[in-house]
This record gives sequence, C-alpha cells and structure tokens, in this order.
Amino acid sequence: MIVFENVDKWYGTYHALNNVNETIGKGEVVVICGPSGSGKSTLIRTVNRLEPIQKGRITIDGRDVNGADVNVNALRSGIGFVFQQFNLFPHLSVVRNVMLAPMRVHKVPEKTARETAMDLLDKVGLAHKADEFPPRLSGGQQQRVAIARALAMKPPVMLFDEPTSALDPELVGEVLNVMKQLASEGMTMLCVTHEMGFAREVADRVIFMDGGAVLERAAPEDFFQRPQHPRARKFVADIR
Ligand code: ATP
Ligand code: MG
Repeated sequence: MIVFENVDKWYGTYHALNNVNETIGKGEVVVICGPSGSGKSTLIRTVNRLEPIQKGRITIDGRDVNGADVNVNALRSGIGFVFQQFNLFPHLSVVRNVMLAPMRVHKVPEKTARETAMDLLDKVGLAHKADEFPPRLSGGQQQRVAIARALAMKPPVMLFDEPTSALDPELVGEVLNVMKQLASEGMTMLCVTHEMGFAREVADRVIFMDGGAVLERAAPEDFFQRPQHPRARKFVADIR
C-alpha cells in the first residue's frame, strides 16, 4: 500500500533519510520509534510530500507521490495526517471543522457533509460537542475532532506524528482509544508515537530508526523482548 524504495533525503548537506526501504501493507498498523532526531517525522512527512526526497520512490497504491502528474493538494487531501498541534479553525464549530474539507475539496453537499461529520463525531465520542467551538474543548477532545476531520476525507491511509505528546497525561488514553478503534476497523496507519503501550498492543510491526536509517523492523513482542540491533537494545532498555 505505502512503499518506500531506496529513499534518501537531505536537508542541505544533512542526510536525514538513509536508504529507507519499507512496505506498509493495506490494513497494517506500523509504529515508528527511535530517538529524537532520528528521522521519524521526516519519514512520515515524505508520504504526503510535506518533505521532498532526493532519491528513491514512495508510492501509495502504486502511485508515485512525487510524480510530475500528482496534484499535491489532491494528494494531501487523500491522506489523513494528525500531528501534535491540532490546528482546528477556532472560529468554526466542531461540526463545521469536520465538514469543511469534504465541502470545499469534494464539493459534497452541506447536508451530506453534516451527516457524515456527525457520524464521525459520534465515532470519536464527541457528537454532543458538535456545536461547540474548539477553544472550549480539552486537548484530548480537540485531537479527537482533528482525527474526525481527517477521516471525513475518507483517506485510505492515516499518518500520525506524536498525536498525544502535547496532551496532559490523563487525556492521552481517549485519543489512543480512538486510534485503537481505527486500527481494529482495518485502517492503514503509520504512527510515530512514544506510547509504547499502544505499540505493544496495537501495532502489527514496529520500525526502529536511528540516524535517518531503519535499523530494525519486528513484531512488537519481538522488538520489545528481543531487540537485535545494539541501538535498538539501548532504546528499549532506556524506555523500560
Ligand atoms: P523527534 O522525536 O524529536 O520528533 P524525529 O525523529 O521526528 O525527532 P526529525 O524531525 O525527522 O526527527 O528530524 C531528523 C533530523 O533532521 C534532525 O537532526 C533534525 O534536526 C533535522 N531536520 C528536521 N527538519 C529539518 C529542516 N527543516 N531543516 C534542516 N534540518 C532538519
Ligand atoms: Mg518528530
């Protein structure tokens, strides 16, 4: 589904991604972990072309995301991306936030967009906040709205970059639960997270990065019990 082939990226002279080769299958949940600065965000951001690559190829369902024929707005609107900052529109109600992109980008009629948005808000447990404004929600609630907003575009793939790391600890669980539910429904997910409990429980596979390279890929139980690469061993030992 998402395929990275010999991907290299430099920021100027800094080699940020070093020959990454990975395949994320349809319905697979992959957690990317690794120390700060190892290239996790960079990798995830190449998928929707927020970061260009200098070598190799990234395809989603066979389509080269960096292809000359690809409309970058269309590409991004088809990939759900949830990150630390929720970036909801503060002056629009919750339901309006979720309706906006389908109406603007896909020209979905308002009534249909509202129905879909309400279904999604229900799914993330926030139907009762539909007419509230984002600044009046908790961080966990705002992040769940951000997930509903991403889902409104019916993306085949969801990317998460530390979706819970800006949240107070007591609000992390409600966001992880929504992510768990999505995973159980068969969503293809690529997640950067420090929530190792989530990785253990939900991931089909863990990818460990350091220095811009993928040093290890393993089933979560193997990764956490029997990390192979010395740097992966150190990483796992440090989080225990
Ligand atoms: P963290 O866990 O702290 O979020 P990360 O694994 O997501 O780290 P990246 O943000 O992908 O790491 O950064 C990888 C490396 O690339 C870092 O050394 C960083 O300083 C560098 N880098 C990231 N963005 C840029 C940029 N726009 N220009 C130059 N260097 C960058
Ligand atoms: Mg990062």
